[in-house]
Amino acid sequence: MSNSVCVYIGDELARYGFGEGHPFGPDRLVAFWSLAQDRGLDARVNQCAPVSATREVIERFHTPAYVARVIEQSASGEGYLDCGDTPAFPGIYESACFVVGSVLDALERILNNECRQAFVPIAGLHHARRDSAAGFCVFNDCGIAIATLRLQYRLQRIAYVDIDAHHGDGVFYSFEDDADLIFADLHEDGRFLYPGTGREAETGLGDAVGSKLNIPMPPEADDEVFYLAWERLEAFIDQHCPEFILFQCGADSIAGDPITHLRYTPAAHRHAAQRLKLLAEKHCQGRLLAMGGGGYNRDNLARAWTAVVEALLEPA
Ligand SMILES: [Zn+2]
Repeated sequence: MSNSVCVYIGDELARYGFGEGHPFGPDRLVAFWSLAQDRGLDARVNQCAPVSATREVIERFHTPAYVARVIEQSASGEGYLDCGDTPAFPGIYESACFVVGSVLDALERILNNECRQAFVPIAGLHHARRDSAAGFCVFNDCGIAIATLRLQYRLQRIAYVDIDAHHGDGVFYSFEDDADLIFADLHEDGRFLYPGTGREAETGLGDAVGSKLNIPMPPEADDEVFYLAWERLEAFIDQHCPEFILFQCGADSIAGDPITHLRYTPAAHRHAAQRLKLLAEKHCQGRLLAMGGGGYNRDNLARAWTAVVEALLEPA
């Protein structure tokens, strides 16, 4: 068990996407898993089948009215679930339930000591708000995971770390006044990229001031810029002593992504995973869940996500 890592693989998870040819297409999981197999990771991880979530657990974070709307538009397959980025398609509700359910299953396995860490490749849908979809994200599995860690597992102090090129606005604004949600996000400066938020001065509201760290990165930022910012992020998380770490390791921050401008290499993702694993061992009995997040260049997401899994498999 000591270094065991669960990875969620299966068609039900792959299907969360917006059609062939879309940046968030159903071929992303396959791209990751092909490289993982080439590197022999399939024999080293515990492969777990995707699990669906109930409406009840989704409503730990989302409003019932919004969930009802997703169910309705999933049946008709028509219209958008937000202002025009996230189209409904037939069965999108069921697909989104598998993303959430797999993340919650991973939490359960970690907290039951069935594994040390876990990776859910199609997850980390950090833009969805409590009452709306946004930016290809239907249900915010990160927000649901935070709510579940508290309600079901009685953990209060949760760290959320996000290195996706886009700011994790759906998580940030949902917990902006929550002092026990330790939020740290390296993202491309919002003046140049969707969703436009995450200024350095945004550090939380009221009692929660100081519990959030936003570091906007200049477009074209490379690994050198990343490592400098990472040191600040790591010290911030360390200082707040979390009980669980959620890691959104979006691969759209790697050079060559078709919709962003950052220029990291997968070494950045490997480093982040290695260092967060150490912090998890120090503060959280190793408890860390990684979620794939964005990444629209297939080679990049495969290289970044396999680097994350390899880092988690390394001896502590
Ligand atoms: Zn992204």
